[in-house]
Amino acid sequence: MAEERSRRVFLSTSAALSAATLSSTALSSTALSSTALSSTAATEELDERGPGERLSPQRPDAELRAILREIDEHRIEATVRRLAAFGTRHTLSSQTDPVRGIGAARDWIFAELAKSAERSGGRMKVESQSYLQQPAPPRIPVATTITNVVATLRGSTTPERVYVVSGHYDSRCSDPLDATKDAPGADDDASGVAVAMELARVFATRRPAATIVFAAVAGEEQGLFGARHMATLYKSAGTNVQAMFSNDIVGSSRADDGTRDPRTIRLFAEGVPTSETPAQADIRRAVGGENDSPSRQLARFVRSVAENDATGMAVRVIHRRDRYLRGGDHIPFLEQGYPAARFTEPHEDYAHQHQDVRVENGRRFGDLPEFCDFPFIARVARVNAATMWSLATAPGTPEDVRIRTNRLTNDTDLVWRPGTDPDLAGYEVVWRETTASDWTHAIKVGDTTEAKVDLSKDNVFFGVRAVGKNGRRGPVAFPTPLS
Ligand SMILES: [Zn+2]
Repeated sequence: MAEERSRRVFLSTSAALSAATLSSTALSSTALSSTALSSTAATEELDERGPGERLSPQRPDAELRAILREIDEHRIEATVRRLAAFGTRHTLSSQTDPVRGIGAARDWIFAELAKSAERSGGRMKVESQSYLQQPAPPRIPVATTITNVVATLRGSTTPERVYVVSGHYDSRCSDPLDATKDAPGADDDASGVAVAMELARVFATRRPAATIVFAAVAGEEQGLFGARHMATLYKSAGTNVQAMFSNDIVGSSRADDGTRDPRTIRLFAEGVPTSETPAQADIRRAVGGENDSPSRQLARFVRSVAENDATGMAVRVIHRRDRYLRGGDHIPFLEQGYPAARFTEPHEDYAHQHQDVRVENGRRFGDLPEFCDFPFIARVARVNAATMWSLATAPGTPEDVRIRTNRLTNDTDLVWRPGTDPDLAGYEVVWRETTASDWTHAIKVGDTTEAKVDLSKDNVFFGVRAVGKNGRRGPVAFPTPLS
């Protein structure tokens, strides 16, 4: 009987899955909830077999909706056009010319962020984070000062918890070492800088619980130098960076064949952590979890808070660290063990990236503002704003979450370290089938540091997340074995 029942469950689940796969493929360009649809259908029957409530997205609250409405596509457009008008922002270009080059761009970004900080009541500080990069052939042939411009909005209750959003303000043309030719870098990456700067402006007057950092970094095109410097500084200071997002090439939704997908943003999130040690890899081989890195939990969190009517966007999570042959500023953060991911437009047009501005056989090349879609960038900014606000107003990610494995049982014991957020209300244990891509169920366990679940740890994946007094849920932490 039991065997028959589980066979029935298995069969109906498979049928539901393939039906959902078909319908989500048919809807993929328009449906915001195609994955939600398939996971709902797939778990309908599984529900009977496990405890807890079905997980649902976290809806934006009134303050977040107000933030999203304040994001201004005209300001974003003005920022992209202003940055492009510096001619080139190549890392090796002039740092002293007041009109043209990376130095002029750096000073303008600093002044704009300082204007935002003026409205923060002293809670936002802007700094030039400079260091001298020694020659690093081939792309840094001579010692070069690299400067990140960084605005830090101090958290009101847990300032030691930090979330970072960035774009890179350096640019390049066809030759990666040419520091004089025009390199407008509108899409790559004035668009990402415009996102970070617009968030700084809108968030400056508000009071998130945790600290948010809005960064315009340099040296990306020469080898991720600015972001690496920043991540290293955080690491050596022992800073608790719980999430970092790079926005790089978020300026257009149009592919080179003309395909448009203006309501989708890609989010690249790695599986096996870049910083994983051989000992950690041994554990992962033994118990699974290659789809459960901190960055993957972050990607799931982004979908749950930022894919809705208020952002008007679908987040297409890509299960890899970055695109083929490419890298970005999230990677140095991953190298330091910080959870990080990269937002990038849904399609790319390589005629508009890393190209000298020119016309060839009637075709225009170059990374010009006219190829940008400013309402699209504003929607990307809303996805980022929903993410950063939700992270910084929810409790942090639980720490030291462990699954007891000292005896063979058919249930599951989880333990974790107590959180210190003053607004913490309690915890939830989440779980899903090992083959499901996102968490499907949440079990409320209250303000405790351990939970026993009547479900075998051998058959499903578990996680733990914190719940704030305001009802907001933080990102999930995936347990490691405790024997
Ligand atoms: Zn870039």
